[in-house]
Amino acid sequence: MNLRPAPWIERDGIPFWEAAKRGELVAQSCKDCGVLRSPPRPMCPDCHSVANEFRVLSGRGTVYTWVIPRYPPIPAYGEGNIVAVINLDEGVRVVSNLREIEYDDVTADMRVEVFFEDAEQDYKIPVFRPATA
Ligand code: ZN
Repeated sequence: MNLRPAPWIERDGIPFWEAAKRGELVAQSCKDCGVLRSPPRPMCPDCHSVANEFRVLSGRGTVYTWVIPRYPPIPAYGEGNIVAVINLDEGVRVVSNLREIEYDDVTADMRVEVFFEDAEQDYKIPVFRPATA
């Protein structure tokens, strides 16, 4: 199977993708009020601070919703690529993919854990699979 395309990265997201290369799932956190936010952005929506840092997350959460996009087909992703919204245990949401499970076996609120898939240009993409224990 071909590697996934490299992610399209904005300046605020650089630390997220560098952490993923190390096998860490991180979220941006406001340095003044501590609120986590995902995806990364320049300003805190709660206190309007522009000071931020990135915190390593557990990589565990639950499935909120999921779908298989059918059109237009994207060859690099093949058939049956499940796109899911994951509620991470730390309280932020990410859009990702589900692996190691069939679409019909996915259930709302099922426990999942992150792992990382290789992508072009040596990037790693965080994706999720059913949680072990
Ligand atoms: Zn804040």
